[in-house]
Amino acid sequence: MTHDVIVAGGGTAGVAAAVGAAREGAKVLLLERHGCLGGAAAVRNVLTLCGLYTLGDEARMVVGGFGAEVVQALVARNAITPPQRFRGVFSVFEPEALKLVLDRMVVEAGVDVRFGATLTGATRDGDRISQVAWSDHGGTHAAQADAFVDCTGDGDLAHLGGASTRYGNPDGVNLGTLGTRFGGIPSDVTVTADQLVEVVTAYNARAKAEGRVSELTKEKCVIVRLPGSGDMVLYLASVDYDPRDAASLSRAEIGARRQAWGYLDAIRGIPGCERAYLVSTGPEIGTRESRHLNCRHQLSWAEIEARQRYDDTIALGAWGAEWHDRDSFASSFDYPPDKGAYEIPLSCLHSVDTLNLFCAGRLADGDRKGGAAIRVMGTAMATGQAAGIAAALVARGALDPGAVRDRLRAEGAILDRAQIA
Ligand SMILES: Cc1cc2nc3c(=O)[nH]c(=O)nc-3n(C[C@H](O)[C@H](O)[C@H](O)COP(=O)(O)OP(=O)(O)OC[C@H]3O[C@@H](n4cnc5c(N)ncnc54)[C@H](O)[C@@H]3O)c2cc1C
Repeated sequence: MTHDVIVAGGGTAGVAAAVGAAREGAKVLLLERHGCLGGAAAVRNVLTLCGLYTLGDEARMVVGGFGAEVVQALVARNAITPPQRFRGVFSVFEPEALKLVLDRMVVEAGVDVRFGATLTGATRDGDRISQVAWSDHGGTHAAQADAFVDCTGDGDLAHLGGASTRYGNPDGVNLGTLGTRFGGIPSDVTVTADQLVEVVTAYNARAKAEGRVSELTKEKCVIVRLPGSGDMVLYLASVDYDPRDAASLSRAEIGARRQAWGYLDAIRGIPGCERAYLVSTGPEIGTRESRHLNCRHQLSWAEIEARQRYDDTIALGAWGAEWHDRDSFASSFDYPPDKGAYEIPLSCLHSVDTLNLFCAGRLADGDRKGGAAIRVMGTAMATGQAAGIAAALVARGALDPGAVRDRLRAEGAILDRAQIA
């Protein structure tokens, strides 16, 4: 099995990378362990698309190219809301429509997509990765390529291939949360943040009075309703765990699911929500941060605040440093300067020690707050497309950041703040 580019992980970043590389004429293999594309958007109930818009009074779109195509396709299916606000600016989408849109995009681009395909190994040859191993129910298979993009979120490809990685950042790792979807709430019933705080507080007080350990870890988050179904999605049930360790992850899944039922119980106490039910928990817990690829550059929050310019800018970010603390379970949000856009360089997607390895999405190299800002899905589509194009160019010859930028512009990507001013 020989390809020009192998992309591991079919989340928003991985699909953008695979399509980006395939449109460059590369023969692309996309490995996804689940049975659908979208990553957190499909299997973790993360249904609020952030990073697409600046956060000031007049929200301006900062992601073009692949990301804009996805939004247009969702708009055409009435499957995404106009931009909304809660701290930041985001759109809510219907996950089944997103899955369909992404399926179509990879098929149209000619990507060789393999579902149920888990990357389990990678072979290093000097300063390059030469081959990966992946498993399905038929056994383990080998696949070779000239360039690789790790979009697994957990850095499986980089780690297994001996590239330099790190877990989170020395000053913290963002907390994980189970995205939970509730049905049975009539569309004319508005659930407010105050009501949520009240019922969760009451639930925990009841649990304490009954001698049970209070289990509901958070009482505040964005409250969103899906287009179409009107289902409500909340990011509340949180657990401190290590996603690299199956034992730790399993405890988290079980604990968070138990919380989800507790939240349902609490929510039924809100007028109009008496008939609420669980549509889905995840189905898996959402890991906000795991490994990062150590890259030729690490994007820092200080650079974002300084509105640093780069010669190799490949995307604009707009989301703030959204931090969910593992000790206190409290969250915070720092805005970028003027609530505007900032530049993201290609060098924070390119491995520091493995010439033909790139990453995108939440694996991208950022310090605690920088990484917390660029991990969101709108930005992941932008970094993914750039990483895919860069990998295709490496497979063809050498990496030329100028050529990556030219190709991105030709695909409609937004690289310059002047374009959105
Ligand atoms: C609770 C929570 C709330 C969030 N809220 C928002 C929000 O409101 N808006 C927003 O934009 N972002 C939000 N985020 C962040 C966002 O979901 C992620 O940062 C984003 O999905 C990153 O995209 P990705 O493609 O890098 O990774 P992921 O979406 O995690 O995709 C990784 C993909 O790789 C696959 N994979 C992993 N390992 C392997 C392997 N070994 N072999 C094959 N496939 C593999 C996975 O199955 C998955 O499909 C939230 C995250 C969480 C957890």
